[in-house]
Amino acid sequence: MPCQSNEELENILLEAKQYSSKGKVADYIPALSKANPADLSVAIYHSDGTCYSAGCIHKKITLQSISKVITLALALIESGEEFVFSKVGYEPTGDPFNSIVKLEMSNPSKPLNPMINAGALAVTHMIKGSSVEERFQKIIDFVKLLSGNQEISYSKEVAKSEFETSHLNRALCFFMKQHSIINEDVEELLDLYTKQCSIEVNCLDLARIGIVFALDGKEPITNKQLMPSSIARICKTFMVTCGMYNASGEFAVRVGIPAKSGVSGGILGAVPARFGIGISGPALDDKGNSVAGLKLLEILAKKYDLSMF
Ligand code: GLU
Repeated sequence: MPCQSNEELENILLEAKQYSSKGKVADYIPALSKANPADLSVAIYHSDGTCYSAGCIHKKITLQSISKVITLALALIESGEEFVFSKVGYEPTGDPFNSIVKLEMSNPSKPLNPMINAGALAVTHMIKGSSVEERFQKIIDFVKLLSGNQEISYSKEVAKSEFETSHLNRALCFFMKQHSIINEDVEELLDLYTKQCSIEVNCLDLARIGIVFALDGKEPITNKQLMPSSIARICKTFMVTCGMYNASGEFAVRVGIPAKSGVSGGILGAVPARFGIGISGPALDDKGNSVAGLKLLEILAKKYDLSMF
């Protein structure tokens, strides 16, 4: 079913778009700085399979941190809860996504949760396969399955740009290698992680992935179970407690839905049993969340009573 444009949504988007000028595109990964800060698009996928959208919906962005939820689901499918949580914890940090400080303070020295970079790197390390290519193929195939889009691919330019400048992520990996959280070659893990972060999607793909999480792992039209419901619920729980970086508490108050954002300006939202929401708006606030995207979600949450609390 094609996604229909919607006048009401267009008006909400125009209101939120004004906030783009308050943000800045990420530039610590040089290739991301080419994004247009004024872009904004949204798609809302309903549980009956209908979809509404507004803005520049076909503009692609890279998944960045949104990929962390997807690899977490995949690692849980492959290795089970017990193994995954022997290497990564359950607790929010309140620190920026790339912070290193709590790694040394936690005992045992494992990352506090799978949504910060250290935890996500530990989770990506778990994806099984005999080569980076085979493991990456698994991740991208899973994104294709969840988004229902067989055309999904990745940006070689963004992957290369991040790989070459991943000094902090390298440091996190070496620390975790010393403490036996990971045991593979650090460059290989970074190669896989940066490719995973560079998978390209648009807001329609994000909304479609969101509805699968919202429906506890079910594809809305066929009702096919794409992942076990228990795993979709674990992912949604992390989206609530630490999906919006160190602004997750404020987001829970203002919007109140499971969501995950990325430094490309994407937001994946999953309103339990109701909607999947995909947003792309590259201008970020100082925590790394899309400024206009946050505003848009706040307006939608009020108007359609989205908060689960
Ligand atoms: N690839 C990015 C990094 O590791 C992801 C960060 C994000 O989107 O929060 O720095």
